[in-house]
Amino acid sequence: MNSEMKRQSSRDAESERLRLVIEAAPNAMLMTDAAGRIVMVNSQAEKLFGYERRELLGQPVEILVPQAARGHHHGYREGFARAPAARPMGAGRDLHGLRKDGSEVPIEIGLNPLTMPDGRYVLASVIDITARLNAEKMQRALQAAELRESILDNLPFSVISTDPSGIIVSANPAAEHLLGYNRHELVGRSVLILHDREELRRRAQELLLARGAAVSADFQVIVAASSRGADEREWTYVRKDGKRVPVNIAMTAMRDESGQVNGYLKVAYDITQRKEAETLIRHIAHHDALTGLPNRALLMDRLDMAIHQARRHGQHLAVLMLDLDHFKRINDTLGHLVGDRLLLGLAQRMQSALREVDTLARLGGDEFVVVLTEVERRESVVPAFDRLMQAITAPLTVDGHELAVTASIGAALYPEDGDDATALIKNADTAMYQAKAAGRNGVRWFTASMYEQIRERMGLGSALTRALRAERLKLHYQPELTLHDGRIVGMEALARWSDEVLGVIGPERFIPVAEESGLILELGEWVLRRACRDCAALRRALGRPLTVAVNVSPRQLQSKEWPQGVAQALADSGLPPQGLELELTEGTLMENPEQSAEILRAVRRLGVGVVIDDFGTGYSSLSYLTRFPIDKIKIDRAFVRDLLTDATDAAVVGAIIAMARSLGIRVVAEGIESERQWRHLLGRGCDQGQGYFFGVAVAADEFAARAREIERWSCSGDGAAESVPRALDAG
Ligand code: C2E
Ligand code: MG
Ligand code: MG
Repeated sequence: MNSEMKRQSSRDAESERLRLVIEAAPNAMLMTDAAGRIVMVNSQAEKLFGYERRELLGQPVEILVPQAARGHHHGYREGFARAPAARPMGAGRDLHGLRKDGSEVPIEIGLNPLTMPDGRYVLASVIDITARLNAEKMQRALQAAELRESILDNLPFSVISTDPSGIIVSANPAAEHLLGYNRHELVGRSVLILHDREELRRRAQELLLARGAAVSADFQVIVAASSRGADEREWTYVRKDGKRVPVNIAMTAMRDESGQVNGYLKVAYDITQRKEAETLIRHIAHHDALTGLPNRALLMDRLDMAIHQARRHGQHLAVLMLDLDHFKRINDTLGHLVGDRLLLGLAQRMQSALREVDTLARLGGDEFVVVLTEVERRESVVPAFDRLMQAITAPLTVDGHELAVTASIGAALYPEDGDDATALIKNADTAMYQAKAAGRNGVRWFTASMYEQIRERMGLGSALTRALRAERLKLHYQPELTLHDGRIVGMEALARWSDEVLGVIGPERFIPVAEESGLILELGEWVLRRACRDCAALRRALGRPLTVAVNVSPRQLQSKEWPQGVAQALADSGLPPQGLELELTEGTLMENPEQSAEILRAVRRLGVGVVIDDFGTGYSSLSYLTRFPIDKIKIDRAFVRDLLTDATDAAVVGAIIAMARSLGIRVVAEGIESERQWRHLLGRGCDQGQGYFFGVAVAADEFAARAREIERWSCSGDGAAESVPRALDAG
């Protein structure tokens, strides 16, 4: 054997050995030469690719690569052949082999470069990964199903799947919980058993209107409605126990591969709480928190509706603006809690005094509005006025306090006094202010002339301001006498205004205007300084002590600087404090009792006297007489007027005098117009008096002369208490 033959045979033996090794390998193996031709395959490779060995040998390896991946394979092989060591062995999972029958098989490939004496080769080991991929896929599917299941089980939403006709296929635990059915009771039945039939009918109707086409099958109503706006997703589920639950439902159509709907997924959640919250918020937005009555917003809605209805039926309606009188006092003296309870109690009583069709609303504070509907004519609401007033004025016990309350009511009638809600309320309000101005505790119908009065007041305000600043206001003085001897001991300062254009305007007209505008502070200060100056001068002229009484308005008493102003007026005029008396009404005191008491104590420390004016007309409780520092009370002229003709008035006057004396408080009677009144009051023990019988108010420069003239006939010679003054004898 020559060496060439020997080499040949040893090469053959080597390749035979390689062939055997390859054949024995558990997976498909094939070897290609440097040109990519298959030079060796094992039987596993035959099986994998479906070729016979001889069909593969000598073929380019590409025949085993699917058409789509050939370019990639080619490039890969080229690169690998060029620099095999630099190339990573093996390839990705997405590789596929091409079988003889044209089918593809997922494979994994390991590539090994081999350098043999006759050239370079590549040994490829190919693994069929079909089974592994299937297993993985299965695993994933299993996991997904499990996940789905557990998500469904734990989802807080009710999830029900149905077939295309609405028959329930599955339901999750949340659905069971929400509906009170268990899964087995649900599966196989129509979802319609969960729905409110009435609601379904209504929705079908709406859909019909919206689409113009009938939606016949009930289940299709749910499907169709759920695909519309968000509002349409709200439904009512009926539980097994019959209870209704508001739910929000989202419907999703499930489709098979061909796009055909093969069922629905109905996801629902309970919106009871949201609904309740919405209802609550709506209620809060439309009702007053304290009384639960409609508030202004709801009142306006109702009033609009009532007006609509009245217009249609040719009826009237009445709007009543109702304001409690002096409610602030109750709040201030007894506290807000008592005030709140009083409001609540009154609201309940008023409500029950009204009919179902009427509306009682609270605008805030102590302001209420009543809308009386189906009114025939103006007079027909009178009984309602009476019932309301009775409801308010009947005593009410709150926390042990028996409270007597009155109210002022302004009324406006539709359509005469206004034909829309705003006008009616505004006019009722105007009428209510007139009711207050007319002495409270009463009802006033709106009249067009009220606006004139208001306009007049406004005009009066600016004219008054000008008059005060131009010093065109005057002070007149009415003498005050001791009744037993007819001597003039004092005088009351009364403001007078004679306007060039408007003529003489009485204080009962301009004082309220000044109080409303705040001008009263300036006016009050002017009166105080002027009165002190005039009184000091008159004392000098008459050569004896004389007091001047100055009327004080509520606003003045609210000001902490006011006592300082009083002291200043005294100092500037030289009038001793004993020469000044300050007159306040009961109402003024009670407007802010705590502060009033404090300020009165301050002026009294100066030595100034405090007088309660118009006594008997205001607050019915006398307890404040002991709470405030009071020197004197002035019995209102209304009692004096009817003293001789009205037994009740006589009794009241007698009681006032007796009570005041027992408290060491002096008593003055105002409005004495006859000698008999004088005699009567003197007999009852009244200390002082003033009135037209003695003299009207006159200017300061006339006062001294007038005073002497009066005393000439009013004074008895000896001034003895028992003896009737001479003037009476003469009269
Ligand atoms: P008042 O303080 O009760 O004053 C007494 C009123 O009775 C005065 O009316 C007086 O003219 C009137 N009068 C006096 N004697 C008689 C009588 O015999 N018969 C009748 N029928 N009336 C008599 P006037 O001056 O019209 O004052 C009305 C009210 O105006 C006063 O009532 C007082 O509340 C208020 N006022 C007057 N001047 C002032 C002032 O300077 N400041 C304040 N804040 N109020 C004042
Ligand atoms: Mg007075
Ligand atoms: Mg008076």
